[in-house]
Amino acid sequence: MDTTEPTPAGDPFGPPTISTMVHCLHCGEEYDSYRIEWRVKTCRDGKRHGFWCCPIPGCDGAGFGFDIFPVDPEYRDDDGNLMWCSDDEEEEDDYDEELLFGEDPLEGIRIDQGDDEIPF
Ligand SMILES: [Zn+2]
Repeated sequence: MDTTEPTPAGDPFGPPTISTMVHCLHCGEEYDSYRIEWRVKTCRDGKRHGFWCCPIPGCDGAGFGFDIFPVDPEYRDDDGNLMWCSDDEEEEDDYDEELLFGEDPLEGIRIDQGDDEIPF
């Protein structure tokens, strides 16, 4: 048997060196990122895999930056990268942006409501 336990070293979903307030997408709880737990589980392939897991009992959220995100949208990781929009900047997908702005169903409603609310 391979008795080597997986270690958190090099796991991309580990919590940051400096603890920050995080929010778990699965349970909705907020807590300090240092509470994120390293758990080792035996997977279906029989191998031992380690995961950074949400510390809330009964929650299966896992991974800082995967299920668990910093509360602060301006948060930067240890490398100084924004966690929230670094992907968007890299992809440069103009089509998605056009669709998002052009098909905003609330845009027209907002304008209409604005007119109705002015009684003069
Ligand atoms: Zn959770």
